[in-house]
Amino acid sequence: MSKKICIGCGIELQSDYPEKNGYLPAAKLEEPGEHYCQRCFKIKNYGKYMPVRLTRDDYRKVVQEEMVNSQVAIAVFDIIDFEGSFDDEILDVLREMDSIVVINKLDLIPDEKHPSEVANWVKVRLAEEGIAPLDIAIVSSKNGYGINGIFKKIKHFYPDGVEALVLGVTNVGKSSIVNRLLGLKKVTVSKYPGTTLKSVRNQIPHTKITLVDTPGLIPEGRISDLVCENCNLKMVPANEISRKTFKMSKGRALIIGELLWFRILNEDEMKPIFSLYAAKDVTFHETNEDKLKELLKTDRGDLLTPPCENCIDEYRKLEKIKHRVTVKTGEELVFKGLGWISVKRGPLEIEITAPKEAGIVIRDAFI
Ligand code: GDP
Repeated sequence: MSKKICIGCGIELQSDYPEKNGYLPAAKLEEPGEHYCQRCFKIKNYGKYMPVRLTRDDYRKVVQEEMVNSQVAIAVFDIIDFEGSFDDEILDVLREMDSIVVINKLDLIPDEKHPSEVANWVKVRLAEEGIAPLDIAIVSSKNGYGINGIFKKIKHFYPDGVEALVLGVTNVGKSSIVNRLLGLKKVTVSKYPGTTLKSVRNQIPHTKITLVDTPGLIPEGRISDLVCENCNLKMVPANEISRKTFKMSKGRALIIGELLWFRILNEDEMKPIFSLYAAKDVTFHETNEDKLKELLKTDRGDLLTPPCENCIDEYRKLEKIKHRVTVKTGEELVFKGLGWISVKRGPLEIEITAPKEAGIVIRDAFI
């Protein structure tokens, strides 16, 4: 096959290394005609590396228009990034309408966690927000687990048919679930989240159930939304979630990608023990706090990614702020859109440095 060149920057196109220049997914590269590499495509269309953002006002408008005709909301959340997908805009709709809550990506959590435990945990979290859904479905759109259950629940509550408003922030797997429910064999997932501005209506074949798929909202606080699209995809765990356990003392520091870092502040002899859960492509590096500054200035190679070489300059420009937190044994420290730290032996006292946009919360242990 002859070489193809990006008409934006002239680089030779390739589909093997998403993190390198000239990348274009194989399917696109094989299409006839002229092509932009993914990087130029984004610069051309979005002006920068970030995906287009539907403003909250626009989102609310689209959803409120659809709420008039819909009898039930089907809200999709990501079990791996629950806090990141738990957006106020969506919670507000759930407070107003009957709902079936769908928790996706069950395949990514350890086997010992039973779906009913997950459902109970979610029920409590929803109740804290004043939300009592009609039902909760725990599913994996990847392997199809529980998808039929969503269908059965809709039919149970609405035997005569219904218009169901499907809601969820980007990357929770909303498109994958809608496609599964519509019975499409090929699951198409959005490569550029946040680009659809209108709702899409589809009837589930041979039923009176219409799914009104609303645009995916980019929520506040997700660290994965502060990097380029390639890094964003890497930060959304696809196959497995990695876990690494640390025992660290005062004076030590942990840097996660180059996304955020923290110093251990614990005074006493006891070293806190904690596990870090994140996508396996997110690197981490333990070091001395004195070396941290040096490390952040040096040529990083593959040691501290994401961000990658395409988005690191933008990321470094983000204003960073420090948070002092104490996380007790049995609690988890969540970095929205990145992962979480589960404290096995605490307290874990740390000073975190992170972009001011980063959502950081403490929750009761989930795993
Ligand atoms: P949307 O932005 O909410 O419509 O989400 P997509 O359907 O585009 O999926 C976002 C990403 O999550 C893609 O990389 C999917 O492959 C992945 N994904 C979706 N559902 C699942 C799931 O059940 N398990 C796993 N492991 N990944 C999933």
